[in-house]
Amino acid sequence: MADITYDSLTGLPSITSFYDQANKLLSGSRDYYLVYFDITRFKYINDILGTQAADQILSQIGELLLELCGDSDCAARVSSDKFVILKSDKTGRDLFIIKLISRMRYFDLPFELMCNYGIYMFTDEPVELAIAVENAALAQARIKGSYTDRSLVYEESFRQEYVSEGEIIGMFEEAIKEHQFQLYFQAQYDHSTGLIVGAEGLVRWIHPSKGVVSPAVFIPILEKTGLITVLDLYVFEQACDTVKYCIDNKIHLVPVSTNFSRHDLRLPDFVEKLEEIRKRYTVDSKYLRVEVTESVVADSLENTNRIVDQLHDCGYLVEMDDFGSGYSSLNVLKDVNFDVIKLDMRFMTNEAKNRRGGMILTAIVNMAQWLNIPVIAEGVETIEQADFLLSIGSEYIQGYLYAKPIPRIDFIQLLKGSSICNVTANMSFLEKIDTCDFWDPNSQDTLIFSNFVGPAAIFYYRNDGEIVVSRVNEKYIEELYMNNSQKDIVSSRFLDSLDEKNRQIYHETVMKAIESQKEETCETWRVLKSECCGETVACIRTNIRMIARGSDKVLFYAMIRNITAEKREIATYKEYERNFKYVVEHANVYFWEYTIATKEMRPCFRCMRDLGLPPLIKNYPEPLIESGLFPADYADFYRDLMRRVDSGEEQIEAVIPLTANRIPFRICYTTEFDSVGNPKKAYGSATLIRNEEEQKEHND
Ligand code: C2E
Ligand code: CA
Ligand code: CA
Repeated sequence: MADITYDSLTGLPSITSFYDQANKLLSGSRDYYLVYFDITRFKYINDILGTQAADQILSQIGELLLELCGDSDCAARVSSDKFVILKSDKTGRDLFIIKLISRMRYFDLPFELMCNYGIYMFTDEPVELAIAVENAALAQARIKGSYTDRSLVYEESFRQEYVSEGEIIGMFEEAIKEHQFQLYFQAQYDHSTGLIVGAEGLVRWIHPSKGVVSPAVFIPILEKTGLITVLDLYVFEQACDTVKYCIDNKIHLVPVSTNFSRHDLRLPDFVEKLEEIRKRYTVDSKYLRVEVTESVVADSLENTNRIVDQLHDCGYLVEMDDFGSGYSSLNVLKDVNFDVIKLDMRFMTNEAKNRRGGMILTAIVNMAQWLNIPVIAEGVETIEQADFLLSIGSEYIQGYLYAKPIPRIDFIQLLKGSSICNVTANMSFLEKIDTCDFWDPNSQDTLIFSNFVGPAAIFYYRNDGEIVVSRVNEKYIEELYMNNSQKDIVSSRFLDSLDEKNRQIYHETVMKAIESQKEETCETWRVLKSECCGETVACIRTNIRMIARGSDKVLFYAMIRNITAEKREIATYKEYERNFKYVVEHANVYFWEYTIATKEMRPCFRCMRDLGLPPLIKNYPEPLIESGLFPADYADFYRDLMRRVDSGEEQIEAVIPLTANRIPFRICYTTEFDSVGNPKKAYGSATLIRNEEEQKEHND
């Protein structure tokens, strides 16, 4: 056998070495199967993450395959992102595929690497290895891009139904002429009302001998050759025709979106072409929407923006397709003025469909609300998904749960029997934070939110009274002293932490903040829970401010402070104070409270009773100097003493004769400071000096 050569990027044998090795292995045993796969949307990865990162992924796959292949197996990279594996032991097939899928999940990537696996099972029938690889590739092509069918075993019938690339290109022109392409319509619904809000036009190739060919088969080939632009304009025209039919027949109508490829946006007169078709059918642009994936942005941001602006000028809404595919970055939303986001549930991985996915979805939906962009969730198949989406504020749904793509005639029938409403953004902006930047992890706003503002949260208040926390910063987490994660906080129900009374306080503050549009404050006791710290009760002071308002919810910014310790101190102090008052009564002590900022003095009960003072004395001590309680010759001395109190001296003591009878009293002041160290209040007391020694001390 010739020496093995290697693929430098992946470390796997070169494809020629693979063929040599595989043939050798197969000559010894037929208990083998062949796995063929490539990476879904590898081109996007290249475009968006860059070639270096893409190469890194290929090399990681190489490492994985080397690890999973024993001495009696072999694997190689066929070309670019396509791999092939010859694996022994046919009974272990399913397990091996599961292993591949799950191991790729642990690649350190910002998304799940998606692959579909085509499988060819060797039998005793001799077959050329190249044909076996082709068969596995044929099986793979049938499920390529599917999120539910991850692997498929080749069957003989696949070959008969298969339409080759050459055939597609060869037949395309005729197919257009003969109207073999038909537009199917998939209705979109508002899950909160059950009304139809729109529809997506999806093309089908009704081939005279091969039957219905899925767009997944021919679109990529038409994309490669650029023929897609012809098809997309043809589809757009069919959409116009359907809209026109509905208008003419007075059928209640919803906007229809159609898909456009990056090639379309590169046409120098793309928007003019659309306008020419639309005007020919005399339909309003408000009934037509343009759907593009973010790959168009990867092409050229500048050009995309230019086209989107032109489309807006002509009255079209532009939808961003396949958001959440993992390859989409939030920056795209920031950079391009999309009107609608289409979030594909099928891009959610299995575990993502559970807890983590809930978080991701919630974050995306919240972010979209910040940006004032409605979200249509696609690929929704279960009522649980739909209900969950609704619970996080995303009501628009396109998926098998409500409707599959159906031919035009059935769609028109559906419209005739349905009620209709519009897709609208449900938040409208207020000022302040540049919301786009706020969600960009590298932005100044995020930096400020995370580092400089102190403990803060973003929450929204729904019309049904629910409060949903959507984002908290690190300091917020620290402030609660519970060692929770952001996830724990966001996923638990906020109102559950408050009892009835505190809930009411919070609710009232929220209402006040909505009305005043200013910052409002409240203090509430909450039950805080965490896995590691158990349960505790804490008092949180919250300053809240409204940021944005929608038809059914209001968005807030909240700054918090955990004031539990202070509160407990005050409670103890109040207890002391009660005891103190009791003691005072029996000890010839007069007691009062002086507020530094306002110069207000509040005497104790005894002062009021014995000295006839009112409960509140303003501009202290002047009224008492005037009344003669402080003798005139001591007036300046006492004023000076009060100046020392005002300036923040902590402890002051002096002896002063009081009343016309000049009875000597020892006056003491103790000053209290606020959290930033400014003098706030002073507590004064006056004790009668009876002791002769003390008097003497004074006289000296
Ligand atoms: P897409 O634009 O993301 O379209 C949605 C696809 O999801 C459709 O597949 C639809 O049938 C499918 N789908 C909808 N609801 C569900 C669901 O609940 N579960 C599952 N599993 N699938 C659901 P379809 O019609 O096969 O289209 C595939 C792709 O082909 C489209 O993906 C779009 O990218 C492309 N395509 C279709 N028509 C056109 C067209 O006229 N022009 C261009 N450029 N691309 C098109
Ligand atoms: Ca689409
Ligand atoms: Ca989509």
